[in-house]
Amino acid sequence: MTFKDVSQLIERSPLLNDVKNNEEVFWKNSMVLPTKEATAQIDYGQAEILDAKERLERFAPFIELSYPETSDLNGIIESPISEIPTMKEYLDDKLNEKVNGRLWLKRDDLLPISGTIKARGAIYEVLKHAETLALEHGFLKNTDEDYSVFASDEMKDFFSQFNITVGTTGNLGISVGTMGRQLGFDVTVHMSVEAKKWKKEYLKNIGVEVIEHDTDFSKAVEKGRAQSEADPKSYFVDDEHSVDLFLGYTVGGFRMKEQMEKAGITVDADHPLFVYLPCGIGGSPGGVTFGLKQAFGDNVHCFFAEPTEMPSMMIGLMTQEYDALSVFDFGLGGSTVADGLAVPRTSGLVAKIMKTFFSGGYTLTDDHFKALLSSLHSNEDIFLEPAAVAGIIGAHRLAQSEEGQSYLQEKELIDKMSQATHLAWGTGGSMVPEADRKEFLADSSQASL
Ligand SMILES: *Cc1c(COP(=O)(O)O)cnc(C)c1O
Repeated sequence: MTFKDVSQLIERSPLLNDVKNNEEVFWKNSMVLPTKEATAQIDYGQAEILDAKERLERFAPFIELSYPETSDLNGIIESPISEIPTMKEYLDDKLNEKVNGRLWLKRDDLLPISGTIKARGAIYEVLKHAETLALEHGFLKNTDEDYSVFASDEMKDFFSQFNITVGTTGNLGISVGTMGRQLGFDVTVHMSVEAKKWKKEYLKNIGVEVIEHDTDFSKAVEKGRAQSEADPKSYFVDDEHSVDLFLGYTVGGFRMKEQMEKAGITVDADHPLFVYLPCGIGGSPGGVTFGLKQAFGDNVHCFFAEPTEMPSMMIGLMTQEYDALSVFDFGLGGSTVADGLAVPRTSGLVAKIMKTFFSGGYTLTDDHFKALLSSLHSNEDIFLEPAAVAGIIGAHRLAQSEEGQSYLQEKELIDKMSQATHLAWGTGGSMVPEADRKEFLADSSQASL
């Protein structure tokens, strides 16, 4: 993109000017369609989500055997939700806006095995790859067999001749690496410059080959892909283009229906559900949103949240240029404290699907990421990693922005907001070592909203 092209894009959508100026914005997506119509336009729907969900259920005996901490849920990798009323009150007070409805947190920081939302997509894709190989090579005759066999030494021996490669800012590598090694695969992880030291150490300790790049995420992915493609026994988990990764995430959204029912939370036309999802390349918020939409239809409204320096999904959707543009075209792309969201170019696959599903999105400065991290910790005694807090301010942003209000008006939701449920997707944090937590908290103590 030349400078001139970018100026023309900004003329078309003036909010882009604020994006370019590194200002926080709230954007209402006017391309969003009723769920049925939106779903009819794409190749996936409930059948594909159910297929993924059933695959995870087939693997549950293996997961339970390999990770006894999953025995409470019989080998299903899932996280609880908890209401965060003290945090809500704090935000109401601090931002001078008593938001209608209740505020909940989805605790993907507590997901077993790898403690971030990546466990949903990445572990699913690795398992599916293992299943495919096992079927191809006669280790499984069909999918009705007992999948505990994946824990056998024989199977591990067999997988050890194959490689799995991934490019990551950190967390995707942890999920792929942990499950890949557990199954016996040789795993290579290409790390971008943002990757935290403890994540590299963790991976090296479980026998993953870590290749460090001093470049951004998109470049790390490129390098990983090229290396993997050169080796016929290597499989590349492609954060930019993988349908399986996307489908793995959808299951998390789809399962919310049962979880909300169990928690006694009504979601229907008079009780809307608003979900706020931290967004990097878009796979996890996109997949979860797709699953939520298939479960709740038009009664759920999903918003993505990004750092002001890395609004790659926002730029991709606002311009409808998807992955043809990156944040660098707007002079952005500086560092962000939200390492898990440090992605300069969105996934074209996901952005094109999500164009008609996301209700909108918003951006946050680093200072606000820090303030949310530290106030969540002091008010609720919950520690999330920086990327994971982005959703917590969503309900207030919706209430306090013109575009947010206009969305609620259009959807005739204003009168229903006292019955609304707001759910911030907390995407990770439990694996952060104590010393790093202390550092994050110390670094965040002066930040304010
Ligand atoms: C990766 C990540 C996200 C965003 O997921 P994408 O698929 O990259 O959009 C959010 N939070 C955390 C903690 C992450 O690691």
